[in-house]
Amino acid sequence: MRAMQKTIGLLGGMSWESTASYYRDLNEGIKAKLGGLHSAKICLVSVDFEEIEKLQHIEDWDGTAVILAEAAMAIEKGGADFLLICTNTMHKVAPQIQQKISIPILHIADATAERLRTDGIKKVGLLGTRFTMEQDFYKARISERYGIDVLVPEEADRADIHDVIYKELCLGTIDENSRERYLKIIDKLAQSGAQAVILGCTEIALLVQQKHTAIPLYDTTAIHAEQAVREALSS
Ligand code: GLU
Repeated sequence: MRAMQKTIGLLGGMSWESTASYYRDLNEGIKAKLGGLHSAKICLVSVDFEEIEKLQHIEDWDGTAVILAEAAMAIEKGGADFLLICTNTMHKVAPQIQQKISIPILHIADATAERLRTDGIKKVGLLGTRFTMEQDFYKARISERYGIDVLVPEEADRADIHDVIYKELCLGTIDENSRERYLKIIDKLAQSGAQAVILGCTEIALLVQQKHTAIPLYDTTAIHAEQAVREALSS
């Protein structure tokens, strides 16, 4: 019998290190639900991250939106039923991308906040790029729509978290010292009252996993992929 499955659109490459995690999680998720040789139906367009990163760091968000909207239109044309933007940071331009396509975007912050709310978390720490930790497109969405307080690390720690993402994790480098510093920052957030910590950058779970700390971690990549599997199998 032919299993009914929607096609998952992936806007990836930001960085490809975490798009590879999405690809694996989605296929494992579909296999776990349907069994046998079933795998996820995916339409992926992967951008050149160097171009995006240059525009991010001169704050040319409109420039990034043009590139990402074009990729999203190609994904829709390719037959995707809905879209995942495979990065937290670039949800900053999710509204501009949504304007150019008619399939829905499954927002990574909504997927994560719904999980936090279900688990009764009222105060959460957030790790991510400087853009995600400091601007409102992500934090305010979680606090205003879901009533969850969001704490971010102090300035020097934010700079360290950001640099490790761009100079190590997006290049596939996993460094023990960086992990130790991340874990210290996670501890500080817990001491400030965070009941859990959002790994709000799709590469962070490559460095820090639940086995490294007792504080509950919310891995946005895994949560986003799980939500996509549910959506792909829903009627
Ligand atoms: N993948 C990262 C994120 O989830 C950072 C890379 C980017 O700037 O897109 O935010």
